[in-house]
Amino acid sequence: MVQQRRREEEAAAVPSHIDIMEHVTISELARKMNLKASSLIAKLMEMGSMVTINQQIDSDTAAVIAEQYNCTVNIVSLYHETVIESQKSEEADDSPRPPIVTIMGHVDHGKTTLMDSIREAKVADQEHGGITQHIGAYAVSIDQGSIDQGRIVFLDTPGHEAFTNMRARGAQVTDIVVLVVAADDGVMPQTVEAISHAREAEVPIIVAINKCDLEDANPDRIKQQLSDHDLVPEAWGGDTLYREVSALAKAGIEELLEAILLQADLLELRAPYDVRAEGRVIESKVDLGRGTVGTVLIERGTLRRGDPFIAGVFPGKVRAMFDDRGHPLPEATPSLPVEILGFSGLPAAGDPFQVTADERIARSVGAKRQELRKVKEAGSISQITLDNLYDTIKEGQIQELKVVAKGDVHGSVEALVSALERLSTDDIKLTVIHASAGAINENDVMLASASNALIIGFHIRPTPKAQELADQEKVEIRRYDLIYEALEEIRDAMEGMLAPEVVTESVGVAEVRELFRVSRIGTIAGCHVTSGHVRRNGTVHVVRDGTQVYEGRLMTLRRFKEDVNEVEAGFECGIRVENFNDLKQGDSIEAFETKEVAKKL
Ligand code: GDP
Ligand code: MG
Repeated sequence: MVQQRRREEEAAAVPSHIDIMEHVTISELARKMNLKASSLIAKLMEMGSMVTINQQIDSDTAAVIAEQYNCTVNIVSLYHETVIESQKSEEADDSPRPPIVTIMGHVDHGKTTLMDSIREAKVADQEHGGITQHIGAYAVSIDQGSIDQGRIVFLDTPGHEAFTNMRARGAQVTDIVVLVVAADDGVMPQTVEAISHAREAEVPIIVAINKCDLEDANPDRIKQQLSDHDLVPEAWGGDTLYREVSALAKAGIEELLEAILLQADLLELRAPYDVRAEGRVIESKVDLGRGTVGTVLIERGTLRRGDPFIAGVFPGKVRAMFDDRGHPLPEATPSLPVEILGFSGLPAAGDPFQVTADERIARSVGAKRQELRKVKEAGSISQITLDNLYDTIKEGQIQELKVVAKGDVHGSVEALVSALERLSTDDIKLTVIHASAGAINENDVMLASASNALIIGFHIRPTPKAQELADQEKVEIRRYDLIYEALEEIRDAMEGMLAPEVVTESVGVAEVRELFRVSRIGTIAGCHVTSGHVRRNGTVHVVRDGTQVYEGRLMTLRRFKEDVNEVEAGFECGIRVENFNDLKQGDSIEAFETKEVAKKL
């Protein structure tokens, strides 16, 4: 009775409508609705959801709760307020723009040497005594060619890591990939990775067969190998441009540049010039004396000194502008890299850069984006996981599940890929966007992050760095030892029947300092708990010199001759591992706990 009345009193104070953003925390929603957070939590419990006060819920859920109090919810999108419309141009005003090129290829195949030769051939000789700067990109001009006086812009960081890192941040600036393959070495793992990365980004590939000066160079063998990856040379009836070069002897460079312009012509790269400039930050740093310096690649429009802008979350005003040779510039046109002074904070590589109609707009949008970033950081997952897969499919957000497949050996990867692809249904297509043998590395994670894919490892684990990156990027890595297990779990996930996940997490580590033989019991290890905690009856791994030598149960746990259930970091204890009397000084005893994680709300 009392409770009933209290509810009614409370409900009377609730406004008839409220404004919220796409996501709202329980405490914020309670504040807007004039309710106690505890009442809202109770209400949600009645409705079958367990939430905490700082948890974010989506606007739909908020609307359902609010309805219970006769309150309607109006969703104001902070996101929309942070979007600045591009300035329109008449289509007819679009003009050709130079292509932007990234060089990729296996390590030691000659990427750096090739970039240096292009730079030297095309920059240094025109620039008598001029020093080329490294600002993240540089432009070269070749005499013939129709595109903006035959200009080509090269991104300075070769390799698919940089390419995919940018793409993971929503910044795809590359128009053409030059794939360098050493003629004496052939197609190698990173060559294949590069192809996957370029293909996933839908960027055309030109092949530069390098080191053709070597005697054992065999360009035809490279063409053959790459044809197996659908890069069929024109001469063989395909549409991939191949050029034979020697980066070291500077041979074939001109021909390669011409091929790039040819490909660019085919792509009909165009941009408007007579609008407010837009581009991407590709590098940024704090320079002693000059302050924040950012390199921006112009994508459309013309950038001029004095223009107000917003870069990522930071407003600014172009105080000075320089080209890739350090020359001051009054203005910059599409595809060109420029170094800019005048940022109010350090933008991140990949951040969008936009000139605004005035400084006030730049400032207010900057403030809103910073607020939005906070909401997002507190907020929910955006990456696909097996747990959210079914809901995502149901909501129509995805029709395709992308997978990066890795395995221990080539044969098992092939088997895995063909089995996975057969899981495709009418509702959802399963596509393997990259498959190769070897440990799950950082590139796999970035590719998955950029493409919203998940990673399947078969008999293989991620490198520690890759795992760290995966946690950061919220990319899911699933590991299996049996193909049918992988297939079953993914099929279940696709059908929305995923069982709760059992996760095993490391909870603590103890280091063996001394050993005691105790008659009738066996060896007891005198240990120091260095992190977390260890528990009696828990699962432990005994690790020696980085290798796991035993897995079993922690049988005896003692402090000062007394049996205890748990010992925390910083304390000494005696440990005996069940059926294992071979502990050595210096061993680490890693404690694990398993728990079931239910499907998310
Ligand atoms: P990256 O790892 O792809 O950047 O490769 P590098 O540019 O560092 O080159 C690796 C090695 O191959 C270096 O020792 C270069 O001198 C050599 N190299 C690069 N291009 C050529 C070439 O055209 N011919 C020969 N013979 N060696 C080359
Ligand atoms: Mg290099």
